[in-house]
Amino acid sequence: MEFIIILAATFFFMEFVAWSVHKYVMHGFLWNLHEDHHTKNPNSFFEKNDYFFVIFAVPGMTCILLGTVFLIPYTLPIGLGITLYGFAYFWVHEIFIHQRFKILRNSNLKYLKAIRRAHKVHHKHLGKEHGECFGMLFVPFKYFKQ
Ligand SMILES: [Zn+2]
Ligand SMILES: [Zn+2]
Ligand SMILES: [Zn+2]
Repeated sequence: MEFIIILAATFFFMEFVAWSVHKYVMHGFLWNLHEDHHTKNPNSFFEKNDYFFVIFAVPGMTCILLGTVFLIPYTLPIGLGITLYGFAYFWVHEIFIHQRFKILRNSNLKYLKAIRRAHKVHHKHLGKEHGECFGMLFVPFKYFKQ
């Protein structure tokens, strides 16, 4: 039971981490890695922005390792929470919204549509400054309407 609670708490906490990293780091001093996500080159599959998946995989994998090999308490559900959030982010952001693989093009789920609407607002801004909607899985209520 404790395991599930820590895993779920980590997952939700990662939304806050992703939001702040997106707002203050990706649109901050690491903008050079994120920029090509806002000005997409249609001829290249990979983006420099993909490095962020590698960057976020490190703490996830490290915690899983600490929990399974070194048996340090609580680190396994934390590592799984971080990693699961990474998978969810990948499915929603890379596949559903940006269609990097041509599957899951449409959904009738209000929640998924709201996520997409909010993220399209984020992409209206091509530059580093004046961004909005930096989160991913938490969607402000106004995007459910319309
Ligand atoms: Zn951005
Ligand atoms: Zn995007
Ligand atoms: Zn603006």
